Amino acid sequence: MKAMVLERPNLMALKMVEDLHPKVGEVLIKTTHAGICGTDTKIYEGKIPANYPLVMGHEIVGEVIDGDTNGFAKPGARVLVDPVLYCGTCFHCKQGDTNLCPNGGIMGREVNGGFADYCIAKTSHIYPLPDELDSKTGAAIQVLTTVLHAQNKGNLAKGDAVIVSGLGVTGLMHIQLAKARGAKVVVGTSRNAHKREMALALGADYAVGHGEEAKKTILEATKGIGADMVIECVGNLSMLAEAVDLARLGGKIVPFGIYPSGQAELPFYDFYFKELQIINVRAAKGHDFSACIDLVSRGEVDLAPLITHTLPYTELNSAIRMLMEPSDERIKVILEAA
Ligand SMILES: [Zn+2]
Ligand SMILES: [Zn+2]
Repeated sequence: MKAMVLERPNLMALKMVEDLHPKVGEVLIKTTHAGICGTDTKIYEGKIPANYPLVMGHEIVGEVIDGDTNGFAKPGARVLVDPVLYCGTCFHCKQGDTNLCPNGGIMGREVNGGFADYCIAKTSHIYPLPDELDSKTGAAIQVLTTVLHAQNKGNLAKGDAVIVSGLGVTGLMHIQLAKARGAKVVVGTSRNAHKREMALALGADYAVGHGEEAKKTILEATKGIGADMVIECVGNLSMLAEAVDLARLGGKIVPFGIYPSGQAELPFYDFYFKELQIINVRAAKGHDFSACIDLVSRGEVDLAPLITHTLPYTELNSAIRMLMEPSDERIKVILEAA
């Protein structure tokens, strides 16, 4: 079969590799769609540790070919793959925190993933897609699972006033999910006018610029109290500092963007004084996959408008370059079978 093989950082090419044979508890999947995201670009550049040579791709939808389907997904079934691997026996897995398993990993980082003709997934990690949900949209659901995990862990509740800063793929998902969960006020912030328009079209009550504009909007909308929750999707420490300013006394901050390590100044005194809860989140759990398939099938979250580009997976190198360039119009890029 063919696969895009990352030999080492910054060196990837289409290669013929050995055919895959599923073992007990595994299925062989013909990859039809695989989303690409910032994690892939960081793995590509060697900024995230990974096992080389590697087939990247952790946002996978495909058709079951054969293997240990356990009577659950018949050959031909279209399935979404949960790429988060875990041991099931350690302290964290037994607590239900499978996403934190120190013996685990992620398809497309520690083991081969979706940018290939076929991939192997665990039978326990596949979720059939209902007929009304097309496979291309399905490939964006893995991202939504991390968004749902974050709102569950932060306990975003009905009636909350929420700010989502950064209106890229995850920000636009957070806006829709917050509204679906009954948030009273949802404010999206971005410096990009096109993305602010999208946020409004997808259900945000307000979409404004960062900084003073955001503060004025949330204070007006909450009678001077501030945001119950600020979800920071930019991944920039100055934006995290702004989140501290926008959260109300006793509020919560979900740092959803991933911050590079290194020195930075944060208003630490305000963490204490405002009694803020900082809720960190990583990946998602198995049950988030079926919940997200339901949310998208019921139309409570609309992922189709977020998919702006589709390319054959053999053009992964161009897709990576595309993601590294800033763009006002590009949101989600999905690669499909070549
Ligand atoms: Zn991703
Ligand atoms: Zn474990």
